[in-house]
Amino acid sequence: MHSPHDPYVRVRDAREHNLKGVDVDIPRDVVAVFTGVSGSGKSSLAFGTVYAEAQRRYFESVAPYARRLIHQVGAPKVGEVTGLPPAVSLQQRRAAPTSRSSVGTVTNLSNSLRMLFSRAGDYPPGAARLDSDAFSPNTAAGACPECHGLGRVHRTTEELLVPDPSLSVRDGAIAAWPGAWQGKNLRDILGALGYDVDRPWRELPAEQRQWILFTDEQPVVTVHPVREAGRIQRPYQGTYMSARRYVMKTFSDSKSATLRAKAERFLTGAPCPVCGGGRLRPEALAVTVGGRTIAELAALPLTELTAALPTNSETARVLTGDLTSRIAPVVELGLGYLSLDRPAPTLSAGELQRLRLATQLRSGLFGVVYVLDEPSAGLHPADTEALLTVLERLKAAGNSVFVVEHHLGVMRGADWIVDVGPRAGEHGGRVLYSGPVPGLADVGDSATARHLFDRSPAPVREVRAPRGGVTVGPVTRHNLRGVTARFPLGVLTAVTGVSGSGKSTLIGEITQDLPGVGRLVLVDQRPIGRTPRSNLATYTGLFDVVRKVFAATDQARERGYGVGRFSFNVPGGRCETCQGEGFVSVELLFLPSTYAACPDCGGARYNPATLEVAYRGRNIAEVLDLTVEDAAEFFADTEAVARSLAALLDVGLGYLRLGQPATELSGGEAQRIKLASELQRGRRGHTLYLLDEPTTGLHPADVEVLMRQLHGLVDAGHTVVVVEHDMTVVAGADHVIDLGPGGGDAGGRIVAAGPPAEVARVGASATAPYLARAVD
Ligand code: ADP
Ligand code: ADP
Ligand code: ZN
Ligand code: ZN
Repeated sequence: MHSPHDPYVRVRDAREHNLKGVDVDIPRDVVAVFTGVSGSGKSSLAFGTVYAEAQRRYFESVAPYARRLIHQVGAPKVGEVTGLPPAVSLQQRRAAPTSRSSVGTVTNLSNSLRMLFSRAGDYPPGAARLDSDAFSPNTAAGACPECHGLGRVHRTTEELLVPDPSLSVRDGAIAAWPGAWQGKNLRDILGALGYDVDRPWRELPAEQRQWILFTDEQPVVTVHPVREAGRIQRPYQGTYMSARRYVMKTFSDSKSATLRAKAERFLTGAPCPVCGGGRLRPEALAVTVGGRTIAELAALPLTELTAALPTNSETARVLTGDLTSRIAPVVELGLGYLSLDRPAPTLSAGELQRLRLATQLRSGLFGVVYVLDEPSAGLHPADTEALLTVLERLKAAGNSVFVVEHHLGVMRGADWIVDVGPRAGEHGGRVLYSGPVPGLADVGDSATARHLFDRSPAPVREVRAPRGGVTVGPVTRHNLRGVTARFPLGVLTAVTGVSGSGKSTLIGEITQDLPGVGRLVLVDQRPIGRTPRSNLATYTGLFDVVRKVFAATDQARERGYGVGRFSFNVPGGRCETCQGEGFVSVELLFLPSTYAACPDCGGARYNPATLEVAYRGRNIAEVLDLTVEDAAEFFADTEAVARSLAALLDVGLGYLRLGQPATELSGGEAQRIKLASELQRGRRGHTLYLLDEPTTGLHPADVEVLMRQLHGLVDAGHTVVVVEHDMTVVAGADHVIDLGPGGGDAGGRIVAAGPPAEVARVGASATAPYLARAVD
């Protein structure tokens, strides 16, 4: 079948996840989109099979010793793949960037800028030329010694640490201390050190207050605890840590985001007094290019950076030319409002992926297959053309481009479409069509075809009348300058505008404290849990009921198994080899660690004795393995479980398995699980639901299901606010707030507000022309 000149990637008998022995051929020199409803198997084919197979081969070729490990982790379940080039993946679900990375480091543009400063900068008279490392805040050679290259220093004050000085230490004067026993422990140590923990804070001598809060000493004393609740406690050796030390340590080292956030409340950030926020040593900040320091250039939006670069010498011209040509694709992809010093963790997943994509254009790679995950995420319709151009350019450089996409415009612009379906999970996993896009029109079974070729306008819906509203602002934050917005209540509002126009910043200001809001619920796409221990059964609470059902069986009662026996989180019923995870972590050299099935329970999570207990012929592991759909039938007469399952079915998640780990769920799935747990809860007064780009990762068919739910909430008297780029959704809203007109400093204003049909006619709005097409 395969010859070196065969221009196709040929996949045979792919069985990863729900794929049903898929055979598919895709030309190597095309932009191919993988489509299908959520859960149909697109990612399993594009990432789980094509990309995973390319990775496996790559690691085998560079590190033969890794073979055994790869075998252990599991190669993709596929018969054969031929014609496969090396693959590069730009996936959104990837590990979050480290806090030190920035737009400049992600794109490598910082390196080029440093080179420019090192080689072509203007130095003060007599100063030696600096190495390019000296311009990096992330190296010892460059970092400001005071703030270690962070640009800001964190300080804490007595007022922050002790908000209520009328309290004694025993009554909790030191608000920054940890809770529970750890805080008591510190208090007892202070007592043992001879401090009066029962006197109001303000009555303690100043030098004592100073020492308690700020000392760097860590004395060790023997503590004789008082007897509590009748329990005798032994004396122990306790180490004291001042409140400042505790807060600083927690803020910089704690693995828990909650603890870090708590610590941050006791800190004030101030620009570093030595570098003034420039993050570099004084020698480096004395060098300028075009009259500006490197810190000043890094703070400019990319659109302005290009104009600020000099071309006065040959060296400068060459280095500037390189920078300019690498900034261009970033700007084209609608990200010109970003600055090089913008910390990567503050970027959205979509922004980050587009940055990586733009960077690839200059990598000089050819003959590889790029596998991308919805690059249109977060992209305004006005920027879709540019995305297609960038994909075309990667192709023109001699690469294949495989894209998992839901955006109809991107589908129409592709050379080839692989449609997976027809539905999700067990009801999907087949390739319905693989070929040039127009041919999909004839595939009757395809949900994609229905949306891609059916151009009949959406049914007209009466715009609802609001019942009052809430006023947000004036907001001055990021690029918003004193913006005041009115959000009507009892209706569905869509917030629109190009990437960087200020949508997320604005809705971030909607808080529980605003009069009229009532309950505020944020339904986002963040994972429902970070470890394989969380799953939809635990998140929705239905697993608690399931465990009670098992504990109530005769078999369990005879053996004395209680509810806890059926938990995989505590010792007793769980498999101890994997401590109930079902997986063990495998460390691969050079690779992020991955999970492999537990060698003892094979993924069942429980010990054999627990698995002997059955309810209606199924043990607890088998129940966790049921799909929502099957479970709904199995538990039809267990009211509390049935209600949760019905809500999950309503949001289109019938294909998920109850025990599917949170780590395997997509952002869209996590979001719909959150929505379902809201829906099952029943109505308790007015609620404002806030959703930031809820349609990301959703096929148009899934968007319909989601919107039906959201409109249902509004019909029930609630308020829904969405940030949205999908014009079908915007056209179906009652009210639109359009921000812009551009991104960054070119945006941040309300350009139009009103019903969709009205906003569609506003000349100054970048959204209007696209909305106009969707409303009529
Ligand atoms: P899509 O990309 O079309 O949304 P996926 O390929 O992610 O679909 O999922 C296809 C099916 O495989 C779904 O039923 C999903 O629940 C299941 N699945 C996805 N990832 C995993 C995994 N890591 N382990 C087991 N099943 C999975
Ligand atoms: P949108 O949601 O419309 O894409 P954002 O509200 O995310 O826009 O961003 C609006 C502006 O604020 C942009 O110029 C962006 O670069 C800036 N911005 C957003 N978040 C941050 C942040 N955490 N730090 C600095 N600037 C930010
Ligand atoms: Zn500094
Ligand atoms: Zn196990």
